[in-house]
Amino acid sequence: MAKIIDGKKEAAAIRAQIKSQIDKITIQQTEKVNLDVILVGHNPASEVYVRLKEKACAEVGIVSCKHTPPTDIALKDLLLLVDQLNEDSNVNGILLQLPLPSHLNISKVLDRIDPIKDVDGFHPINVGLLSQNQAKLLPCTPAGCVELLDRYNIPIQGKHAVIVGRSNIVGKPLATMLLHRNATVSICHSKTVDLAAITLQADILVTALGIPEMIKAGMVKEGAVVIDVGINRVENQLVGDVAFAEVAEKASWITPVPGGVGPMTIAMLLSNTLTAYRLQQTKS
Ligand code: NDP
Repeated sequence: MAKIIDGKKEAAAIRAQIKSQIDKITIQQTEKVNLDVILVGHNPASEVYVRLKEKACAEVGIVSCKHTPPTDIALKDLLLLVDQLNEDSNVNGILLQLPLPSHLNISKVLDRIDPIKDVDGFHPINVGLLSQNQAKLLPCTPAGCVELLDRYNIPIQGKHAVIVGRSNIVGKPLATMLLHRNATVSICHSKTVDLAAITLQADILVTALGIPEMIKAGMVKEGAVVIDVGINRVENQLVGDVAFAEVAEKASWITPVPGGVGPMTIAMLLSNTLTAYRLQQTKS
């Protein structure tokens, strides 16, 4: 039976560390660390995520400010808002809550964020730095996955890590991070032929595909470490991409959903905001 990788507990420990560092900044330098969030329109799931992020910011002493332009905002006006936040020296981090309404080009907005304030790590400059293993601001969800492995002393080097999903926000950056940690990495996607043949080889299996409980025990090697990034709502409950009960019988370690990667993503966002603040201090 697998042991549980407790993301909720680890995230709380990270938040406590961040809080003590932010307390020092606000006491010694009488400054604030600020995260500005842009939430366009009224997507209920996005509103929930933003509320969670605001709550986490408040807990550690990061001042968060929410900008809520209407759904029909023109691209040029959204870019203007980003420009204003880029120029405002009081703003340390800028987070664009995704998805955006379909008339807005996500890349155009993300690319406008000053890379030094890009706390999601999605700007092409930060993606390039990650590729060169020089990133300071790493995408939050993959960073949270690696942090969990490290906090549980799960070895990465030399292991075969199989990632199911190749999105720009999870699968691809995670593959790069695990490669830098000397894993042998396979990336699977919707066109992969015989997915199970590949997932069965995984020492570390990460699922980020967004299909409820698609990964069954028959697709998992005995003793594998399973990190389930998926968050899927089924009959008002959250479930992962992994059929937890049956896969837990075979895995050595497994993350639950909820309480696994999700809280770590938010903890990494707070950590990136602090890093962005420090990068800006060194620059000025
Ligand atoms: P995307 O929809 O952007 O990407 C999904 C990926 O899964 C794609 O690469 C797709 O392949 C692949 N895929 C889809 N169906 C299959 C299949 N049948 N077999 C193999 N691969 C498949 O999703 P995200 O990366 O944004 O998110 C993935 C999941 O993670 C979602 O449930 C999301 O809610 C969750 N999530 C959780 C976070 C957290 O904090 N825990 C943060 C971000 C996301 P292809 O490229 O060929 O289309």
